[in-house]
Amino acid sequence: MNTAQDNRFQAIISHAKEYGFVFPSSEIYDGLSAVYDYGPYGSELKKNIRDYWWKSMTQMHDNIVGIDAAIFMHPTTWKASGHIDNFSDPMIDNKDSKKRYRVDHLIEEHAAKLKEEGKEDLAENILQEMEMLDAKSDFTGLKKLIDDNKMVCSVSNTTNWTDIRQFNLMFKTEFGAIASDNPEDNIVYLRPETAQGIFVNFLNVQKTARLKIPFGIAQTGKAFRNEIVARQFIFRMREFEQMEMQFFIRPGTQKEWYEHWKAERLKWHLSLGIPAEKYRYHNHTKLAHYADAALDIEYDFPIGFKEVEGIHSRTDFDLSNHQKYSGKKLTYFDTEINQHYIPYVIETSIGLDRMFLLILSHSYDEETITKEDGSKDSRVVMHIPEKIAPIKLAVLPLVKKDGLPDIARDIIKDCRPYFKCFYEEKDAIGRRYRRQDAIGTPYCVTVDHQTKEDNTVTLRHRDSMQQSRIHIKEIKDKLFQSLNL
Ligand code: ATP
Repeated sequence: MNTAQDNRFQAIISHAKEYGFVFPSSEIYDGLSAVYDYGPYGSELKKNIRDYWWKSMTQMHDNIVGIDAAIFMHPTTWKASGHIDNFSDPMIDNKDSKKRYRVDHLIEEHAAKLKEEGKEDLAENILQEMEMLDAKSDFTGLKKLIDDNKMVCSVSNTTNWTDIRQFNLMFKTEFGAIASDNPEDNIVYLRPETAQGIFVNFLNVQKTARLKIPFGIAQTGKAFRNEIVARQFIFRMREFEQMEMQFFIRPGTQKEWYEHWKAERLKWHLSLGIPAEKYRYHNHTKLAHYADAALDIEYDFPIGFKEVEGIHSRTDFDLSNHQKYSGKKLTYFDTEINQHYIPYVIETSIGLDRMFLLILSHSYDEETITKEDGSKDSRVVMHIPEKIAPIKLAVLPLVKKDGLPDIARDIIKDCRPYFKCFYEEKDAIGRRYRRQDAIGTPYCVTVDHQTKEDNTVTLRHRDSMQQSRIHIKEIKDKLFQSLNL
């Protein structure tokens, strides 16, 4: 990340806090690392992103239904899914600074430094070797790669490293109040992904919603990962939310459905008006234990191109393993071909918080503007896609008297059943506009003395800052049209 990118990222983080989008969790106690709370505008924006995803999945497709599974699941779920044995990252500690690194992060950072120094070839060789060793889980080889290249800790600047160890990312907690001689008996895990709640309910959902393959099950909800290095604001959190959809298909059709969902999901991102050049696909060369194909949809965050969503062809791995561990049949009878089989699955998995950060990154803008008298001014404006903006309409009486507040409140009363409105009467009108720009409100309506004469108001648009005079009766329709509600 260069200095300009870093400055922009820091500005977004400060703005998110100052304007009530995101706060560090339990901040009065100095916060909790990689855990965040969403404030008044943040929780609205987050809800709107979630709703937009949910609608695109469950309302816009006849064959996708939603569920809401519990966070706690029977512990055998995680044995069957492979998380107990495989959901871990290799980590290494620097003995002098005690700083812990994810091995891939340490090596990638070293390679990035080499690239900055113009040593492209060496950096590429190191990265290729890492991928090869990583694929074989060859920790001795990875340690040698770190030692041979004299990779240093960014805090102590030394090469004094521990051995590489596996670190399981699942949080454990105790369940129930019954004492047991074996403490392991009461252990449950906080789910590290929402997907398994869908797999264990596969037959319940298929039967009750009378679904025929191909069909999907969608879910949004919290997931928890004890990330080794949790940093970069809400990009990598220990408690976060996922929006996942598992699409159940006939074995052998996975390639075409994988391509289908790869295209569909990118279309969803672009439907928010985010430029296509800010996105790219990244195909996985190292596949997770459950996948026969996988890619990330990456976005050009201020911290560089990073994953926002994963598309995974999960084969029949999950259902087969749940069948094996539970002893319950999880097959589907396909009447078209007269066959019983365990369906294959294509998964689309997007982090809600990461999508939120994407929206902040896309929207945040420090603009220089020319005022009517020709002088220069600046404003911070959030160009949040209008349909997911936290507040859609601010209604502002020009002054706090002469009956203008009453008219403004009547407008709000008329509009608020349909979209989120905001009333404000304090401060000069220019300052009130700026506050709405800073939280991304697409429209402001100002009620002035002329309103009393002819029932017209000034409608101001956030992005163009253009103002027009419209009749009070037109406000609702104008917003419906523009917001595409
Ligand atoms: P990463 O490589 O960044 O650790 P991942 O490949 O492990 O992510 P998946 O298991 O595919 O991620 O999870 C699907 C999505 O969930 C990711 O694309 C991301 O948007 C989100 N996600 C995963 N881990 C986190 C986290 N710690 N904090 C916030 N979002 C996350």
